[in-house]
This record gives sequence, structure tokens and C-alpha cells, in this order.
Amino acid sequence: MPHVVTQSCVGDGSCVYACPVNCIQPTPDHPAFEHAEMLHIDPAACVDCGACVTACPVDAIKPHSWLDAGERAFLAVNAAYHRGERTRPSLAPVRPPLRVRRHSRPLRVAIVGSGPAAIYAADEILTIPGAQVSVYERLPVPYGLVHAGVAPDHRRTRRIARQLDAICADPRLRMHLGVEVGRDVSRERLLESHHAVIYAVGAAADRRLQIPGAGLPGVASATELVAWYNGHPDHAGRTFDLSHPRAVIVGNGNVALDVARILTVDPESLVGTAIAPHALDALRASRIEEVVVVGRRGPAESAFTLPELIGLSATPGVDLAVEDDALADIPAGDPKLDLLRELSPASACDGARRIVLRYRLTPSRIDGTERVTGIGLAPTARAGGPATSIDAGLVITAIGYRGMPVAGMPFDEATGTIPNDDGRVIDPATGAAVPGVYVVGWIKRGPTGFIGTNKSCSQDTVQVLVEDFNAGLLREPGVGVAQSAL
Ligand code: NAP
Repeated sequence: MPHVVTQSCVGDGSCVYACPVNCIQPTPDHPAFEHAEMLHIDPAACVDCGACVTACPVDAIKPHSWLDAGERAFLAVNAAYHRGERTRPSLAPVRPPLRVRRHSRPLRVAIVGSGPAAIYAADEILTIPGAQVSVYERLPVPYGLVHAGVAPDHRRTRRIARQLDAICADPRLRMHLGVEVGRDVSRERLLESHHAVIYAVGAAADRRLQIPGAGLPGVASATELVAWYNGHPDHAGRTFDLSHPRAVIVGNGNVALDVARILTVDPESLVGTAIAPHALDALRASRIEEVVVVGRRGPAESAFTLPELIGLSATPGVDLAVEDDALADIPAGDPKLDLLRELSPASACDGARRIVLRYRLTPSRIDGTERVTGIGLAPTARAGGPATSIDAGLVITAIGYRGMPVAGMPFDEATGTIPNDDGRVIDPATGAAVPGVYVVGWIKRGPTGFIGTNKSCSQDTVQVLVEDFNAGLLREPGVGVAQSAL
């Protein structure tokens, strides 16, 4: 009875190290790990010990006979990854432990932000005996997108907070909630009392559509809508007009699928989830019947992942359809495309609420004078076909997050990241490292990957930080500056 990794896999790799036969791939040391949509258990090698089940922080792994109807597709997804011979060591290679040189004072690091990248960095630092970490979080609640970004009905994914809680329970970690670095405490002050500061501020803004009408009421970004339905304090007062029968989402990444699902599921199925009460009330009164998700490229370039598509296609009460001719001329053999092919054509939907995936359309304008009445779409270059428009009362842009500049820090406008070399912040004017300042997570590498992707990203940064500490490149914290005073 092999075990199976399912949709909520966050890719943190805990299961990989628990497995006694190294049958979970890709492993964090493998180049494929950073872009893997999930991890996969080899059914032929699994010895059914269940160690991975215990190790997984989000209960994503089940014996195959426990899979429910909506999860059975994951048996084939796990097996397909392992098709064909692949050599692998008998155990996954582990990172060597961090070692610090003998030092008069223990390593002290301040971390700005408290999302997964921040807490994974803290976890890594705390493997060093005596090391201390101070985490500074602007909001009154920790963990960033775990609360404000993960869909409220993704209950298992949200269980990652238990793992973060366990890391933060270490008495050598001090959490400072409601403290904004740059407003309540300066970076200079943090550097006086710590050897180093790690910025883990994520990508708090979103990319904007630059087309006529994009500023009309009724156009909103997915970042705003997601924060609103997740109860983020900065967005609690927002309202969204859900009175028109159709909404359009521009972009087809996992955020787009999350938003489409929340706008179409039976609101009563969200009771007891992390949905904000104001959002639940609004969804109960919603008159949206159809959400159209528009991709500017073809089905093969869909930005959503296979696990999320499987989950969405199994959502009760929601028809998921693909526009009628989207997959014509695309050969079989790719699991994501094959699943898209199995969905009903858009013309055949008969559910009360539905999501329609459309392709090869580039937004050209937002229609409306006082507020949104629809969206104009042009065929993406080389796709051919006529321009079209879709009537809608709400247009949500889900075209990606974007990092925001941090006062006093260099910033790369093109990528929305802080320039860095393996996590060491670099001054682009000189090419030199900014002493004692590091980055992890989306502000380091851009808004891609899953919660667990941040683990190896943070471990890489902490490794170079420790190298700098050992090389004597970090200034000793002031003797008289107590952390508790900050
Ligand atoms: P994303 O995956 O980068 O998708 C962005 C989408 O916007 C793409 O379809 C992209 O099309 C499109 N786009 C970009 N610029 C556009 C423009 N000017 N006009 C029209 N379309 C445009 O971003 P995301 O959905 O925000 O997700 C961010 C990260 O978080 C991803 O790594 C995602 O997997 C992760 N995430 C995961 C989950 C989950 O696992 N449940 C949930 C949420 C987010 P092109 O491909 O053509 O550029």
C-alpha cells in the first residue's frame, strides 16, 4: 500500500529526510526541486513505513487506500514522476550542519518580517548552539502569507503554521509583533545590537495592468481580494461589488485559481474555514454565476500547477470548463493538458456556478465609464482570431506579486527584488556587499515557488551569513545594547 503525496504538499522536504529508502523526489539538493510543483513518492520503492506521514507538516501524505475521490488522481501523478530508471543514493544527502568559529559572543541575528522565509531562516540559525534571533513583524499576527495569502479553505496547507509555531517556541527566538522596522526601529539600531539583519519582507504589492480603464471602480488586484477574504487588517474595510453575474480574472496562476474557487464555491462550504466574516457575508450575497479566467498564452503555458488544477476540478458544486477549441491540435501526453482535455467544454456547463478557462487573449482595455462593465481582449500575437470582449462587473488582475522598495536599501525595479548575491545584499553602485545585511524569500528571488521553497532559500542565505561571521566580516553588536530595549 504505497503512500501518496497530495495537493497540499508545500515542498519543504521534511518527508524526504524521513524516508528510509529515499523514494520521495525531487530531493532538496536536486536542481529540479526549486521548480517542482510537488514532491512524489515512488510507489514501487515505498516500503509503507509511514515515516513521511509523520514528518509532513501539512498532512499532505496518505496511504493510497485512504485517498478520497478527489485525491485519487494523485496516485498517478506520484507514479508518473518515477516512470523510467533513475539512479539515486540510498538516502537523500543532508546539508552539513552549520559551524561557527569560537567566538566570545553568540551569533545574534534580527529578521525583518515573519513569513515562512523568515521563520525558516530563524530555524536554521537556531541550529547553532547559543545563537539568538529577534523577529520584527509590522502586523499584530505573524507568518505573512500563511495567514494573508493561503486560501482560507486550504485547511491542510494552513497547518504549516503549526510547524512555524514550533520553531518560534524556542526561547532563543524573540518575536516582536506590531513593530515596523524603519518606523519604530531603524536598521542601524538593529545592526548595533545584532551581527546581521535579514530582510524577509516578501512581495507585498502586485503587478498592475497598464491598459486604458484599469483604474475604474470594479477593477481590483487579486492581492487585495485575497487579503480581504483572509481578514488582513490593511484590507478589512474594502468592498468588492459581487452583484454582476460574471467576474473576469486576468492571469491563470495558482492565485487566479484560488480566487476563482472562492468566488464560485457554495459559501456555506467556507463556514469554519479561515474566511473573514465580512467576506463570508459578502459571498453569501454574491450574484456571481460565472468566473472567466483569461490566460494570455496557450494551455501548455498555463501558470497554475497540476495539483491545484486537480483540486479545483474536484471542487463540489463548481463546473470547471475550458473554452471549446483551446486544446485543438495539442498532442496528448502532458498530465496537465490531459486533465484540461477531460474537463467539459465551455458550451456544455450546467452547474449553478462555473469557472471557464480561456486562452491566448491579451487584455486591451477595461470597458465602462462610471465603473467596470467588461473587458476588451485582443488575440495574443500569432494566435490569430478576432478581438473580443466579455461583460463583467468585476475584473480581478492576478498577474503576479511584486516586491516593494525598502527605505535605505538598493532595489531592482525590473525584478522587484533587493539585489543580492546568494542572499548577501549588494550595492549595485559598487558591486560590494552591504555589510551585515541579507535577504531571503520573495524579496531575494522574486514571487515564485511554494511555502517550502523558502526553506532551502533561507538555508542558503544563512550559510553565507555564517561564512561572513566566521570570516570576521560582521561587526560585533554593542555590548550595552540589550535586545529587550528594542
Ligand atoms: P504566477 O504563477 O506568476 O502567474 C501570473 C499569471 O499572470 C500568468 O498567467 C502570467 O502569464 C499572467 N500575466 C503576467 N503579466 C500579465 C499581463 N501583463 N497581462 C496578462 N497576463 C499577465 O503568479 P501567481 O498566481 O500570483 O502566483 C505566485 C506564486 O505563488 C506562484 O509560485 C504560485 O505557484 C504560488 N502560489 C501557490 C499556491 C498554491 O500552491 N496553492 C497558491 C497561490 C500562489 P504569463 O505566464 O504569460 O506570463
